[in-house]
Amino acid sequence: MNIYKKCNLCPRNCLIDRTINPGVCGVKDKLVVARASLHYWEEPPISGEDGSGTIFFTGCNLKCIFCQNYDISTKLIGKEITTEELATICINLEKKGANNINLVTPTPHVPLIIEGIKLAKEKGLTIPIVYNTSGYETVDTIKMLNGIVDIYLPDIKYYDDNYAIKYSHAKDYFKYASLALKEMYKQVGNPVFNEEGIMQKGIIVRHLMLPGLIDDSKKIIKYLYDNYQDNIYISIMNQYTPLRTFKNYTNLNNKVTSDEYDELINYALDLGIKKAFIQEGETQSESFIPNFLNQELPL
Ligand code: SF4
Repeated sequence: MNIYKKCNLCPRNCLIDRTINPGVCGVKDKLVVARASLHYWEEPPISGEDGSGTIFFTGCNLKCIFCQNYDISTKLIGKEITTEELATICINLEKKGANNINLVTPTPHVPLIIEGIKLAKEKGLTIPIVYNTSGYETVDTIKMLNGIVDIYLPDIKYYDDNYAIKYSHAKDYFKYASLALKEMYKQVGNPVFNEEGIMQKGIIVRHLMLPGLIDDSKKIIKYLYDNYQDNIYISIMNQYTPLRTFKNYTNLNNKVTSDEYDELINYALDLGIKKAFIQEGETQSESFIPNFLNQELPL
């Protein structure tokens, strides 16, 4: 595929020939998948009771130093599959009862994912397609997904570029994430649910709070509400889990405190936000991180 020969699928703009070498995302021009299974811990209208048909793609274009899925983003664990196999996985997840097909870190694989999803739809796939991304996207790549994706599930991680550079080596993160969100909203619009309350179309923006960054978190929440009011959902997450020790950024060695989290939730409520998901109970544990080792794919 030509696009892989000079890759500009994401803001890294590597312009590298991925038929020969991987770019910053770590993957070449083949689909690589680490895990595909029903997942029950997404937001309620995504997982429902039957689960979300989650497909974890290997590689990632955002290089967060605190990555919670290190095995697939950096160690690049995964199995090479064809577009036909991706279609089969989607069909089999629907047969298992999945409420949707949930594409996790899909960006470096977009052209082949589009082929695979089209094939799956030809073979009878009917459930919505969810695009679950770090938010570090170009508008052009999101435009390629128009008519393919039904639900966007982007992160917005940072407002201040200094944090994006320090923690994810990503220049202009907010600029790219906010422009991508605008295009996503143009495509799928306001949320639509089926009778069981499962989302069929719409946007849920996720914000993973980081310890010590509450002012930045507030700026993101305010931006989202100022620009989208209650036409999108906001998922405010406190599940950050420190998986290693940081010498330079010691705040990342902590979990988010309940005081910090409550302060952000109260801030959102005071703004008037009604369409939000919050997390309750003990979510800050490695046991919530999926296992990617030796996974059988549903083929
Ligand atoms: S998808 Fe990968 S190779 Fe392409 S621009 Fe982004 S990081 Fe670079």
